[in-house]
Amino acid sequence: MTRLLARFSTESVHGHSYYDGETGAFKVPVYLSTIFEHPDRRTGEARKSDRGFEQKYSREENPTVRAFERVVASLEKGAHSLAFNSGMGSIAAVYLSSLSAGDTVLITKESYGTTQDLALNLAKFGVRTALAGPETEDFIEKINPGVSLALVETITNPQARVVDVAKIAKRCGETGTRLVVDNTFATPLLYRPLRDGAWVTLHSVTKYIGGHNDLIGGAVALNDEVDLTELWEFRRRLGSIMGPFEAFLALRGASTLRVRFEEQSRSALAIAEFLQDDPRVEEVWYPGLETSPYHGTARALFSRNLFGGLLSFKIKGGRTEALEVLRRVRVIKPSPSLGGTESLLNYPIASASKTLSPAVRRELGIGDNLLRLALGLEDVEDLKEDLSQALSAS
Ligand code: PLP
Repeated sequence: MTRLLARFSTESVHGHSYYDGETGAFKVPVYLSTIFEHPDRRTGEARKSDRGFEQKYSREENPTVRAFERVVASLEKGAHSLAFNSGMGSIAAVYLSSLSAGDTVLITKESYGTTQDLALNLAKFGVRTALAGPETEDFIEKINPGVSLALVETITNPQARVVDVAKIAKRCGETGTRLVVDNTFATPLLYRPLRDGAWVTLHSVTKYIGGHNDLIGGAVALNDEVDLTELWEFRRRLGSIMGPFEAFLALRGASTLRVRFEEQSRSALAIAEFLQDDPRVEEVWYPGLETSPYHGTARALFSRNLFGGLLSFKIKGGRTEALEVLRRVRVIKPSPSLGGTESLLNYPIASASKTLSPAVRRELGIGDNLLRLALGLEDVEDLKEDLSQALSAS
């Protein structure tokens, strides 16, 4: 089908262009088949998927997964995409396909702990990992021609800091460094790193793209065909392709991404303002607040006047009071992760930031009175009431 449509919501619904001429179905079936006829009995040749990879075994290529990949590529404005069985699966394939012994990878110290942890573990294969940041300028300072791969997150967690990815991409272009942007928290609705020169953009599909807290998945988008083939080979070797049922759910999630993300961003701003006015709260971190030091960067970088569905706040008190708030919430659920229908309250020192050293945690302001809230799709007034009653203990 010729691509006539390019606006975000239309691409998110029709980006896979699926149509079954025999049945008239528009919805992509869940191809649970492990095997495909090989060689093709009519032609005697290997059967190929639309992008030319052999279509014979679902650890390598699967039609339902392929449909989801087409949507990711169109939303990220990349030529290619690959879907994985988790966000970490996609990060592992990116590292392993692009790094060799003697290489240096530079990662922002505010990135997801397991992203750092995996890179640090590559030391046993001769890969060196350096941490930099958290501010854009600190990170740029450490990029030099000796850095083969740099990884940043568009919006960080739990600080909700916005880094100037365009500036970082420009510096990487000068030094010949491949830039990987984990765009999980911003989503392509706010920002498309490939357009600014990133080599790869990737997602934990588990979060906003999946959108319902009911699947684990990852996805990568990129432009270079040779690098696509190398990544595809590593996905095949690692056995980390997304499952077909997850791909079906992810396709359904992607089709409603805009409306969900807009609502979550609106709720996050309303809750950030609400908490900022609460005397029981010491500080609120959300780039949508005009008082945030990252508001200007976010406005310049993001294509819409939206700032995402994640905020953090420090309560007056310490560990006991923070744990009490987690115990008292009712509508909001105490849980890690984000991007789904349920609003989730998380205690960073006990989850994503657990693997960071105490010194780094101190430097990043991740203390025992810090809580992170990821907005779901409940009524924002119910969320305010819930937070207010939960905070009354502190
Ligand atoms: N990237 C970011 C920014 C994350 O927050 C996470 C998980 O929380 C991951 C990657 C890993 O994704 P997954 O849990 O789907 O493996």
